[in-house]
Amino acid sequence: MTARRGRLVVISGPSGAGKTSVCRALKQHGDVEFSVSATTRAPRPGEVDGVDYHFLSRDDFQRRLGENQFLEWASYNGNLYGTPRWPMDTALAHGKVFLVEIEVKGTRQLRERGIPGLYVFIAPPSIAELRRRLERRGSNTAAEIDARIAIAEQEVEAAGEPVAGVPLYDVTIVNDDLPATIRAVEALLWP
Ligand code: 5GP
Repeated sequence: MTARRGRLVVISGPSGAGKTSVCRALKQHGDVEFSVSATTRAPRPGEVDGVDYHFLSRDDFQRRLGENQFLEWASYNGNLYGTPRWPMDTALAHGKVFLVEIEVKGTRQLRERGIPGLYVFIAPPSIAELRRRLERRGSNTAAEIDARIAIAEQEVEAAGEPVAGVPLYDVTIVNDDLPATIRAVEALLWP
């Protein structure tokens, strides 16, 4: 018997576009395994080490980077973020959907390496709406929100730049209604 190989699904897009909420819904499905990233940023209230992120010191992150432990990694607003390499192989061998929530530079690394998967960009309806959401979420200072908005503008532009003639993303979904966005992603995964 040959087990059915799983599938990598990349959920990407600017901070505040709704990626985390989409992933939270997808995690409810039994055949989805979520990639817990490593990060050097401090935990936010309510975030649990090993569940939301592996929270690492910068030295520890750099050491792991030197040991080639990350499938992709990026610097985002002064902190480092990376996807541990090994869980994906295990999850795919078990036929799972391996769900990765990352920003745009990391997504580009995966594409450049020709890693097969479904690459989804969750876009905000507008930058003004993105700012309102980040303000409402209340987890960033005003300066951090300004920085995240500046990064978001770059990310929206970078998302349209192909990799070796191939679009970076297979699908873009404008998240102006969260339940509809979740349904749209579910329809892509389980048509
Ligand atoms: P946050 O600080 O809001 O949790 O994350 C900041 C940004 O980093 C978000 O766009 C998030 O999706 C992204 N991110 C989280 N984990 C990773 C990762 O492992 N790799 C990359 N490239 N980006 C990540």
